[in-house]
Amino acid sequence: MKETDLFVGWEEDDERPRMGERGGMGRIARVVPESHVDGVFDYLVPERWRGELTIGAKVRVSLGRRMVCGYIVDWAEEGACGRREGLKEISGIADSVYHLPAVLVEMAQWIAEYYCAPLGAVMRCVLPQVVANERGPLLRLRVELVRCWDAEAVEREGALRSPQQRAALSFLKERGGAAWIHEAIEQSGVRREVWRRLEKKGWVRIFAAAKGRETWGQVEGIRGDGVELNAEQRAALQAVFAEGKPVLLWGVTGSGKTEVYCEAIRRVLEAGQSALVLVPEVGLTPQIMARFQQRLWEWRESLAVWHSYMSDGERYDAWLRIKRGIARIVVGARSAIFAPMKDLGLIVVDEEHEQSYKNEECPNYHARDLAVWRGKRERARVVLGSATPSLESWYNAQRGKYRLVELKKRFGGQALPVVHVLDQRRTKGALIHPMLKTAVEETIKRGEQVILLLNRRGYAPVLQCEDCGEVVMCPHCSVALNYHRAREKLVCHLCDHQEERPPACRACGSVKLRLAGAGTQRLEEAIGNLFPAARIRRVDADSMRRKGAFQHALRAMEGGEVDILLGTQMIAKGLHFPQVSCVGVIHADQALHMPDFRAAERVFQLITQVAGRSGRSDRLGEVYVQTNTPYHSAIQLARHHDYRGFVEEELEFRRALNYPPWTRAVLITFSGPVEEKTRWVAEQINLRLRERLVKCAVVPEAPSPAPIHKVKDRYRYHIFIKTQQVRQTARELRDVLSGQTWPDGIRCTVDVDPYDLL
Ligand code: ADP
Ligand code: ZN
Ligand code: ZN
Repeated sequence: MKETDLFVGWEEDDERPRMGERGGMGRIARVVPESHVDGVFDYLVPERWRGELTIGAKVRVSLGRRMVCGYIVDWAEEGACGRREGLKEISGIADSVYHLPAVLVEMAQWIAEYYCAPLGAVMRCVLPQVVANERGPLLRLRVELVRCWDAEAVEREGALRSPQQRAALSFLKERGGAAWIHEAIEQSGVRREVWRRLEKKGWVRIFAAAKGRETWGQVEGIRGDGVELNAEQRAALQAVFAEGKPVLLWGVTGSGKTEVYCEAIRRVLEAGQSALVLVPEVGLTPQIMARFQQRLWEWRESLAVWHSYMSDGERYDAWLRIKRGIARIVVGARSAIFAPMKDLGLIVVDEEHEQSYKNEECPNYHARDLAVWRGKRERARVVLGSATPSLESWYNAQRGKYRLVELKKRFGGQALPVVHVLDQRRTKGALIHPMLKTAVEETIKRGEQVILLLNRRGYAPVLQCEDCGEVVMCPHCSVALNYHRAREKLVCHLCDHQEERPPACRACGSVKLRLAGAGTQRLEEAIGNLFPAARIRRVDADSMRRKGAFQHALRAMEGGEVDILLGTQMIAKGLHFPQVSCVGVIHADQALHMPDFRAAERVFQLITQVAGRSGRSDRLGEVYVQTNTPYHSAIQLARHHDYRGFVEEELEFRRALNYPPWTRAVLITFSGPVEEKTRWVAEQINLRLRERLVKCAVVPEAPSPAPIHKVKDRYRYHIFIKTQQVRQTARELRDVLSGQTWPDGIRCTVDVDPYDLL
């Protein structure tokens, strides 16, 4: 089979297409075409398919002069203003395996409403492009082991007396459990019929799969020993299955949350259902996957990953495996919330406070919130886990919307690391405080590992004139250019503009230009000078451009080939290295000075997370936090591991200023090439919004220049709205903005529950 046509029913042939599970009633279907951002179009359902098409069905329709595929999202009222007239018919239906589950269509509609986004844009986000396309990628037959096969078991069972069949299975086993069938036939010399016979007996599975995915079935992990949950963990597990409420599982790093997830997953799988696990960073997936494989060994063949670095082929296969119910545990990043799970029984959101769950483009959904929505809609259990729950979730737990469950201690009773706060102002310009230097030295001497975090890439964040103080700015954005040593260039982190280092100050002509501040490249250099014998590895967006570089670095770290791992927040989270006993954070207060009401929360989380990297096995970890504001309460509370103290104080602060979670926020951004026009449009819209939003008791703030006023030559204005009735506010906003035409290249975006306020 070279390529399969996904569609049936192009011509009036007799063969009826297989339909979705639920019969629909409509005569007119509302269809979102796959390639169209905003459009929802009506089509007649041909007589012969009536009552059989369902919401979510993938159909083929003509749009303008083209034939495109699309998805049925709703039924339209008949007769309303003579609508049947002139409507075209649906011309084809795809096999039901390509249909979108109805719950995802419903979710898309909910997202479109709540997050003020066009339904078409949401649908394109819900469906991977390669699945939405009319023809999937090139398909070939693949053969995969169904059970983990070992020679002895087979002998004992006496199931396979045929040497050919045994040869076939050994071949597959050697290949890691799966192969393309034409290669299998060629290389093993086992004929096609034999493979088919094995399939009939249930030893292997043969199916069409996309190219570019050669690795399934390869089991990297190892079988883990069974664990027995302790009393706290058992109570947590019970809570997960007790009520219909989401559980907020609050436990310090190393308290055994992951073991609770695994037990919950096991239960759900044993009940014949499936489980979805969201993890924040894609980079974590290899480590996390190995962990799930170990713990859920008997289910390892039902495991699938989902993240944004997958090839089209991999994505296509994964989607179909999930849809068919072959993959029943899905571990993935943010977009895995749209996985077409069969009989969803459990959703886990690990590190629920992580900002990477928020999609920073349209639709600006938050995967944790969608998890709660989806859990409710599909009656699946929901667990949100974190050592430092977001204030939103904490507040929801206090209000009884979630059930709070706490794991109080690190498993095995290990002590939390000792956190030292060091005053960066006293280092006389040195990047590393003498105390941290000594600690690093001693750690390496003991043969242990160090992690150093500096949340800024590049060499130096600014090039500054010593005479007049002028900083070299990006010509297209209102931010300073960063100096990158390797490229010997000044680089803008917003628009990627690059330029040579200027010989003299553009303002005063002075040649005394100084690189001020530090990024990871400068830290790497400084560390190299301090510890010339140490093996150092840098991890940031620049050093990790190559595919697989991150995993490579992690493996080197695991294998003990690295003494000091330094980098941006990429290394702060979720990673587990038992040999790390010393962690340093440089410029820990950097994020505190952002114009963002979540600044303190971020700093607290970052310090706590990174501290959690230290001392995870039998040794006591030490953490050094260098900061210019050593007495800031977020830093002091993090030092004492006092999350409760922190949230109480922070909630009070938010209440005083009427910020989330006490209210909901909506951020409207206007951007345009001409500053005055952009501001003028923002002001006009603001006037109209003021009228409309009176009903929701909302007064939008006057438009103000965004903190980063110019990005890529576009000027930006913000309107910040606080509201208690977010859905109604969103509805009014949609109403006002959708009828609007935007002059002069001005664009307007709406972000509900925004995280990025810059
Ligand atoms: P968290 O997810 O909260 O960071 P983990 O689940 O990773 O914590 O647990 C920390 C360590 O303790 C892991 O090595 C884990 O295997 C171990 N552990 C947790 N619970 C148990 C248990 N009930 N029995 C044995 N080991 C456990
Ligand atoms: Zn100057
Ligand atoms: Zn720029």
